Amino acid sequence: MSTRLVFACAAALSLLGQSANAQAQIALANGAALPQISRPLIVDRTLATNDQNAARHITLAGEDEGIAHIRRLLGTSTVEEQWAFLPDQRMWIEIGVGEDKAQVETDVEYLKLILFGAPRVHLYHFHPARYFEPGVNASLALALPSPADVESSVKIAMLMEEANLATDVRNYVVSPHGVVEYEPTSIGSARMHAEATHPRAFVARDLLTLVTLRRSAFNLERMLDATPNASATEIIHELCSQLSSEFYRMEFYPNVS
Ligand SMILES: [Zn+2]
Repeated sequence: MSTRLVFACAAALSLLGQSANAQAQIALANGAALPQISRPLIVDRTLATNDQNAARHITLAGEDEGIAHIRRLLGTSTVEEQWAFLPDQRMWIEIGVGEDKAQVETDVEYLKLILFGAPRVHLYHFHPARYFEPGVNASLALALPSPADVESSVKIAMLMEEANLATDVRNYVVSPHGVVEYEPTSIGSARMHAEATHPRAFVARDLLTLVTLRRSAFNLERMLDATPNASATEIIHELCSQLSSEFYRMEFYPNVS
């Protein structure tokens, strides 16, 4: 599919707080509307958690601005949330469903429509501040994506491989420490796809095992014993390094303030 999402920003801003039923305002390049499936689109000024899911929230903001909104949610929100950010349109689309105290699921069918329609998609979610116990360095692993998050990144990469789409998909988790990016490399994606039906699917299986091991309290305690003066930023950098390979990429962008 070659459709491209485009957005008429000035017109859309006039829709703030209103239902974005004026389909021409949020449109695909071929004139079709950004899909309104099962719930209407609402344009919001800031990113917010939405566990009611009566509507789908859209926010017009740059990537750094949206991350700043998410950082404000870290300390106040009791649930997680997920968004697809479209860099070319500077648009954030809420794609979380089933928001619970310790997880959020992805509206997969809606996400597919976005992935099949936009050239670049950055997927964001966050781990709230309440996950991080003050002074407990073992909780630093929670700054990294969970095994379920990594599995989700692999499934999305496989979806792109199967559809033979070149969409540039990136995954990010925001925590009080900063942002961690995570996704299969192009080599890893191709290998995992080739192994998909193989009973010994080594790359994906080894990756998920490694994520669980590296995030474990056992590993964290050993790292802290070995480098007692390491800062939180250095430990998270090291964990990302331990989980990066030719098949998978994990990179930490610490908060600058
Ligand atoms: Zn997560």
